[in-house]
Amino acid sequence: MVPEVEPDHALMIEENHLNTMLIDPKRDRFPCCIVWSPLPVLSWFIPFIGHIGICREDGVILDFAGPNFVSVDNFTFGAPTRYFQISREQCCCLSPCATEHTGEYVQSHDESESNANTWESSIRKSIQEFQHQSYSIFTCNCHSFVANGLNRLGFQAGLPVAIYRVSSDKISGCRCRSQYRLFTSQATIIQRRPDFSTISSEDLSYFKNILGERGVVQDEETLDAVNTDWMRKYKGTSKLMLQPRTVEEVSQILKYCDSRCLAVVPQGGNTGLVGGSVPAFDEVIVSISHMNKIISFDKVSGILVCEAGCILENLIAFLDNEGFVMPLDLGAKGSCQIGGNVSTNAGGLRLLRYGSLHGSVLGLEVVLANGTVLDMLGTLRKDNTGYDLKHLFIGSEGSLGIVTKVSILTPPKLSSVNVCFLACKDYASCLKLLLEAKRKLGEILSAFEFLDHDAMDLVLKHLEGVRNPFPFSMHNFYVLIETTGSSESYDREKLDAFLLNSMENDLISDGVVAQDITQASSCWHIREGIPEALMKAGGVYKYDLSIPVEKMYDLVEEMRVRLDASAKVVAYGHLGDGNLHLNISTPQYDDNILSQIEPFVYEWTSKHKGSISAEHGLGLMKANKIHYTKSPETVQLMASIKKLLDPSGILNPYKVLPPSLFTKR
Ligand SMILES: Cc1cc2nc3c(=O)[nH]c(=O)nc-3n(C[C@H](O)[C@H](O)[C@H](O)COP(=O)(O)OP(=O)(O)OC[C@H]3O[C@@H](n4cnc5c(N)ncnc54)[C@H](O)[C@@H]3O)c2cc1C
Repeated sequence: MVPEVEPDHALMIEENHLNTMLIDPKRDRFPCCIVWSPLPVLSWFIPFIGHIGICREDGVILDFAGPNFVSVDNFTFGAPTRYFQISREQCCCLSPCATEHTGEYVQSHDESESNANTWESSIRKSIQEFQHQSYSIFTCNCHSFVANGLNRLGFQAGLPVAIYRVSSDKISGCRCRSQYRLFTSQATIIQRRPDFSTISSEDLSYFKNILGERGVVQDEETLDAVNTDWMRKYKGTSKLMLQPRTVEEVSQILKYCDSRCLAVVPQGGNTGLVGGSVPAFDEVIVSISHMNKIISFDKVSGILVCEAGCILENLIAFLDNEGFVMPLDLGAKGSCQIGGNVSTNAGGLRLLRYGSLHGSVLGLEVVLANGTVLDMLGTLRKDNTGYDLKHLFIGSEGSLGIVTKVSILTPPKLSSVNVCFLACKDYASCLKLLLEAKRKLGEILSAFEFLDHDAMDLVLKHLEGVRNPFPFSMHNFYVLIETTGSSESYDREKLDAFLLNSMENDLISDGVVAQDITQASSCWHIREGIPEALMKAGGVYKYDLSIPVEKMYDLVEEMRVRLDASAKVVAYGHLGDGNLHLNISTPQYDDNILSQIEPFVYEWTSKHKGSISAEHGLGLMKANKIHYTKSPETVQLMASIKKLLDPSGILNPYKVLPPSLFTKR
């Protein structure tokens, strides 16, 4: 059934972003339509009477159908009362025009009236065509009828459709826009700090003077993208993005912002999962993307020095050419930047083998809030002269300084890589397998990832191009093991012995070993594609936890009992590192479900001496939750360090630490 969203969970229609949310083809929410009834009382008797409005690129909603437009039994559209020029690129979904006309469309009244059946068939076609996308439908008072109608039209269970109720006075007329909600607990709701300034024309002139016109971005479309996080859960209202190209420019920007008390959000690839990379309000976005040069690479030591805006995948490709590998790899490698990776202390898929960035990052160049450039860009493996300050910035999520350059130790590329994808009957078998892998594969083990049945199910349903390695049966758990070594025959022999032994001991129920790079990529695609599949499935509550491995899956099972059938609890993660990604997938965001999850998930983790952020950071989502993992004394010391390095608190405010620690009395 198409789910209904209760009125109190309805999206608020406001002055802001409806057009981009509705029609931006980069977003899953495209396509979308708006349905409302101008006659609230009548709609009780004649269901679905009303209008369908479609949002045009410029935000104008087109009134698509008149009061005679539906017969509830077959959900047939009658004659629209007004016609508009729309194109498929601009909008579609339940628009009858969408599938039949790709260009501009204008139809006469008579023509459409005689064509009621065509209307319906084109709607069906439209739905079929877009069935992998999510649909957001807005209605004021024909809520359940819309749901019924859509069900009849072939929306299947699990299809990402959310019906939002909005008030009619807000959507009648034409220019209506919606506001993104923060889909997290109430405790995260924060107030803009009143002492922060707002951008003035003098500020703009200053920035244009130092960065030139092209370094000062004000166009709405770009700003919309950089104001919105990867999950589309967090949305800021910044009116300005700055794109420096040198450390001197970063320094000038921060010095100026500090003097003017203008808040700043450093942004890398904007793939962060905790709302840290986008403004909470109107902070200036400082994007490091244009600082993307590789400065040097030493083939003997394997030390790479580069600017912070280098995209991880580009660094991986560069090193591959040189016969080396990055000690870091993650699903977002195509967009995330090394500066963002360092600032979040990203873990990823190879931490098991190469350790955390605290180990492999040798040096950093960082700009402090007052513009001071800290040159800590050492390339030495050993340097015990005083406090090793670079560690303060690794994982500080842009709250202490902007990272502009990174020096990192990279290991040589080894010639033999094996990947196998295994099925296990229960979690206990996964754990025994992990222990065996550490013992038997030892020095060649480079990744040990796991996913459960629900994660696999989701990937198979929502991710294109995925091949199920076990097409004839589903299993309770799956494990991906990668080995990396220098001798093909030796490594393969070791792996085969390990697999044979594990099968004999009943730790594996089924398994495949990739025979070539394509098969290996196909196995990784399953594991790396889970976040994307979750996004496509609808709303997702994400938790990134470190928990002693033997206890880890108990939380998943307890969560399933708590939520019963109201949500899908999906588990996967870096089992080799004791890192669980617990995801609660729902057709749409629902505060009732959230209240079942939080604070339970944090309390449970704290009780079992875990961490509420294994690798994603705290960002906006968990700034107020730090006490579940860190003692009050530790948090106080962190706040003192923040105040020392950034007295005005302009760098990524409201994130990482509880904002209450910085409110002026
Ligand atoms: C599909 C997918 C898979 C992922 N897999 C993993 C994973 O396996 N492991 C993992 O740890 N994370 C993972 N992530 C999360 C994310 O990719 C990482 O946190 C990544 O390191 C963020 O890098 P970014 O450049 O996108 O930073 P952004 O998202 O732009 O920013 C993240 C934080 O760092 C700050 N920041 C960014 N650049 C700088 C800079 N130059 N100086 C100072 N502060 C800065 C921002 O202010 C923000 O607080 C995944 C995300 C996605 C979407």
